Amino acid sequence: MDNLERLDSLLREFDELSRRTVGYPCNLDFDYAALLPFMRYVANNVGDPFHDSNFQSNTHEIEREVIGIFADLMHISREGAWGYVTSGGTEGNMYGLYLGRELYPDGVVYFSQDTHYSVVKIMSVLKVRNIMIRSQDNGEIDYDDLHETIRINRDVPAIVMANIGTTMKGAIDDVGKIRGILDDLAVTKSYLHADAALSGMILPFVDDPQPYGFDAGFDSVSISGHKMVGSPLPCGVALTRREYVARIARAIEYVGVLDTTLTGSRNALTPLIMWYAFEQKGLDGFRRIVNGCLETAEYAVTRFNDGGIPAWRNKNSVTVVFPRPPADVVRRWQLAPYEDIAHLIAMPHVTRETIDAVVDDCMHGAVAPKDETGTTA
Ligand SMILES: *Cc1c(COP(=O)(O)O)cnc(C)c1O
Repeated sequence: MDNLERLDSLLREFDELSRRTVGYPCNLDFDYAALLPFMRYVANNVGDPFHDSNFQSNTHEIEREVIGIFADLMHISREGAWGYVTSGGTEGNMYGLYLGRELYPDGVVYFSQDTHYSVVKIMSVLKVRNIMIRSQDNGEIDYDDLHETIRINRDVPAIVMANIGTTMKGAIDDVGKIRGILDDLAVTKSYLHADAALSGMILPFVDDPQPYGFDAGFDSVSISGHKMVGSPLPCGVALTRREYVARIARAIEYVGVLDTTLTGSRNALTPLIMWYAFEQKGLDGFRRIVNGCLETAEYAVTRFNDGGIPAWRNKNSVTVVFPRPPADVVRRWQLAPYEDIAHLIAMPHVTRETIDAVVDDCMHGAVAPKDETGTTA
């Protein structure tokens, strides 16, 4: 196989797989052809997007617009907000927890059992004391356990990592209740980071959202760009209050640079991608898209239940949880299994026909060989 053949075969593999991607929360419905010419240039967003850079081929201005859009969505004034386009949700989580730790070096981080696996790594990188809190069956944090655990440690600042949509069950921790616990225990030094990888792009577009945003008590939030926004390259945003970053930036300025981001050189294309998505679809477009996904998710629950399979989903979640099907079904639909459950995620490219095919396979097993077009033959 020469190089071109090799690339071509990889391309065909991607194309085939894209028809059967229902287990991971990536929106495949996008068209960024207009941005292809930018691949001819070296561009780099090194440094703080809100400060001058010596490297002039950057997209900082558009990056600031992206941060502005997310500031609006997360209920913080554009003037009061600071953020940057990250390499993904994980970096945004690391950034939020890094800020929390810089503000409260002796703080303890609390997170639930259902928190994204990357938190363990982030804790070891940051070397911060941390305590895992029990989860409820629906994936939400156990507020009694959180209350009791913070009570025992109320002499030290509390850094709480709340889930706005858990990875496996799409569960949303009640930020109001968490704030209530901190108030009840008179913990004055606290910091709340929200992991809103997927649902940070859902809650702003639904009629009856759970509490979210800076007005609900976020101190920082991480949202993925390759999930609901849709992007061929992994990306996300980290968003926080400008005043917090100013506090840590001062220390760094002392050594001569305004190195406020976690990484040095940063992707200049991903801000373009996210900005272009909002330009193309608009907020009304995303409202339609998100509500369409929620309807598809509800359709999936009904279809499963009609077939005798006890599927369910959390409120305002596009993640449908059901008993783990046989391995061939998991592989065929790229489902994400965990212990005895699996989920499918009703992203915009997932149609009712796809749901029908998945449900049929779960009921009868994926009888190989099937055609690979994503529909049952
Ligand atoms: C996907 C996800 C992450 C990690 O995001 P990446 O963009 O893959 O780094 C973190 N938290 C939750 C809840 C997620 O679903």
